[in-house]
Amino acid sequence: MVAANASNSFYATTPIYYVNAKPHLGHAYTTIVGDALCRWQRLLGKDVHFLTGTDEHGLKIQQAADAAGMAPREFVDSIAPLFADAWRKLDISNDDFIRTTEDRHRIGVQHLLQACYDSGDIELDTYRGLYCVACEAYYVEDDLVSGNCPIHKRPVEHVEEENYFFRLSRYGDRLLDWYAKHPGAIVPEHRMNEVIGFIKQGLLDFSISRTSFSWGIPLPWDSKHITYVWFDALANYITAIGYGVDDAAFSSRWPVDYHLIGKDIIRFHCVYWPAMLMSAGIEPPHGWAVGGWLLVGGEKMSKTTGNVVNPLDLIDESREDGVGVDGFRYYVLADTPYGADGDFTYEGLIGRYNSDLANNLGNLLSRVATVVGKKCDGVGPAPRADSPLADAARSAVAETMARWADVQPSRALEATWQLIRATNAYLEANEPWKAEPGAHVDNVMGDALEALRIVAILASPAIPRTAQIVWDRIGLSGSVADRRVPDDVAWGGYPGGTTVVKGDPLFPRKS
Ligand SMILES: [Zn+2]
Repeated sequence: MVAANASNSFYATTPIYYVNAKPHLGHAYTTIVGDALCRWQRLLGKDVHFLTGTDEHGLKIQQAADAAGMAPREFVDSIAPLFADAWRKLDISNDDFIRTTEDRHRIGVQHLLQACYDSGDIELDTYRGLYCVACEAYYVEDDLVSGNCPIHKRPVEHVEEENYFFRLSRYGDRLLDWYAKHPGAIVPEHRMNEVIGFIKQGLLDFSISRTSFSWGIPLPWDSKHITYVWFDALANYITAIGYGVDDAAFSSRWPVDYHLIGKDIIRFHCVYWPAMLMSAGIEPPHGWAVGGWLLVGGEKMSKTTGNVVNPLDLIDESREDGVGVDGFRYYVLADTPYGADGDFTYEGLIGRYNSDLANNLGNLLSRVATVVGKKCDGVGPAPRADSPLADAARSAVAETMARWADVQPSRALEATWQLIRATNAYLEANEPWKAEPGAHVDNVMGDALEALRIVAILASPAIPRTAQIVWDRIGLSGSVADRRVPDDVAWGGYPGGTTVVKGDPLFPRKS
């Protein structure tokens, strides 16, 4: 085994998204979770590398390109930028964006294939089976629902061809041993049990090549065979960081800390992928964070069912239901515990926006800025070391840190919002707006400003734009993203003496 990443690095990935469709809510969900997690790790001072990208090869793409009257390359070049553009609009802070049609990827994939071939785990054989073109996946009879693909609910094809196979069947015991030594590698825990159960059923070899289409990466030792889906797609996680090209860069990042994946691709990521890596002499991932599906009307979003939600519509503030980038990011992160299925509804989106953002956070900033403007000449007083809010802040910080460490953004935000609620309650109990200017008002407002300062840092992974606005309005300089946890969220960091600005409402209420 090679490679062990330095403890101060943090590497996380999203799946690469297949370019047969435009970016939708499901893509945005995993990508926003990954982004927020990486932003949190940056606050911890980690050297973060966040990777996303697009999966651009395969029969389905070749067919889609044919249907559009385009060459495959031209077709994928027209779709991939839609993803990069969507992520920019959603403030996704990815450090890299890999496309599987890039040279660096082809070189790395061929390197990986050769390593597994040299270890004797890739062999030529005849494949006979049931194949769903839409999934680009083979099924066994038991997987089918009324004879149809369980995901697309359409008929599968009987296929027979000469393929190279990866001998996954040799890896059952090695995978079980590895997982026994790495409890907690998969979160949430019940997904680990699912993976172990799947391995214990006995593993089948899987096909890794095709001769029936040409849009893909040829096998290095037999170029009439094109690499079929998994060796091409999964390999992006290593090819993007230099595998096969730059060993030093690769070993500084690998093993990945978390692959963020949806529950539907767990088998490929948690069984096939570590076996492929072991075969090539590469250490398996440190972790996988498995999310549920964000359903729409109880169904998985798909072109076939016609329930596709475009996240870019929801952030358009000129629309009645547009909630801005942070409103959307917050909903996605806060509304569904990561790992469980969520159900996207417009009512839910607006409800979260009004309760947590407009009424809690927006209202807190507005109250504080108004009172400081009226009673403190617009200059923020310093907090008290023995403030009644200090304990609430300490427990919010501890809980927020623990929940991000568990990859539970919804619970981390709940912990952060406890401090917002405690601060609003503190203001209501003390009613500084009714008091004459003086020590009482200064004490209360200094404490509230300090709570807002801490909230801005803790909430910044989820709502980066808003966190910076709060930071600026309470008179702090620099970028909130450059703060460090835990040092900068210790009680007492607000200096006092800075100008506090009221500004427009952070989150105008939606009806
Ligand atoms: Zn299918």
